[in-house]
Amino acid sequence: MNETEFWQAVLDRDTSFDGVFVYAVRSTGIYCRPSCPARKPQREQVVFFLSSLAAQEKGFRPCRRCYPQNPTAPDSQTEMVQRVCAIIEANPTESITLATLSTQVNISPFHLQRTFKRIMGITPKQYIQTRRMQELKTELKSQNRVIDAIYNAGYGSSSSLYECATTQLGMTPRTYQRGGDGMVINYAIANCNLGLLLVAGTERGICMVSLGDSDTLLEKALQQEYPTAKINRCELHQESSHDNLSKWAIALLQYLSGEQPSSHLSTLPIDVQATAFQAKVWQALRQIPAGSTQTYSGVAESIGQPSAVRAVARACATNPVSLVIPCHRVVRSDGSLGGYRWGIERKQFLLAKEAQKD
Ligand SMILES: [Zn+2]
Repeated sequence: MNETEFWQAVLDRDTSFDGVFVYAVRSTGIYCRPSCPARKPQREQVVFFLSSLAAQEKGFRPCRRCYPQNPTAPDSQTEMVQRVCAIIEANPTESITLATLSTQVNISPFHLQRTFKRIMGITPKQYIQTRRMQELKTELKSQNRVIDAIYNAGYGSSSSLYECATTQLGMTPRTYQRGGDGMVINYAIANCNLGLLLVAGTERGICMVSLGDSDTLLEKALQQEYPTAKINRCELHQESSHDNLSKWAIALLQYLSGEQPSSHLSTLPIDVQATAFQAKVWQALRQIPAGSTQTYSGVAESIGQPSAVRAVARACATNPVSLVIPCHRVVRSDGSLGGYRWGIERKQFLLAKEAQKD
């Protein structure tokens, strides 16, 4: 809990902190929400609590002006942020400024920035950039000329794109369009105790690991992610020294059959496109030891963005290399399993297996 930040929010009567904490005043025995219109107390009289319940347990009474015990209308803030997202979604190729957005939802740019970041985990500007990058990926898949795609996605010049392409796409636009110069994707499908396992890789590392019951569906998912890549199906070689793909697939199969602990997977190289945010989340997932689980909000906290819970859940759901990036170790805070792209039973099985072993 950052008291300096909290106190500043009290001084600013910052509504975006309502519901995040309450402050109590020792001299009066009353507690308030950050935005309370009442006169501000002396700093040394103030104690912060993360919930009204905690303040009441310490004997403080709720204020009669701001009703801090009533649920804050987080809905009105969430709704505002949703409206902002909708405006951006409707104009993905335009560069909308913070000022324009704030006029449209009738809130100051400062509060918009702060509330948006708290709820979404990223700033409006980063959200706009992400949307344009997604737009560009779609364009690149359908356009022949890279330069057309860049302009259609709303980038004024190609140089502005190239500046951020490396972190956002993981490779330059031209490479992505072609599915990679010299970046041929090889894949193999093997039987395992969870059905079928597909492992795909470039010369640099693993680019997809998926589980399923049908060769066709697994191949389709791979193709959708890399529509212009040169994709080859390969046979697995039992001697893992034969080629990288066999080596990686055998490591995964040995982990699934219990012959090797999951730490076996932590050194496997990965070659995927990720936004900066996804990369951060996926890195955090690789730190969760086998046999234990983490909640979505726990992951959000561990990357220093405690309010980005939904964005974390999305990053988990879009993880292209399951098992190697163990998104199955993230569960809901109520103890339920949450979702899993390759089926909830598989998630259950993996967690049960890791709880016994490792
Ligand atoms: Zn009050």
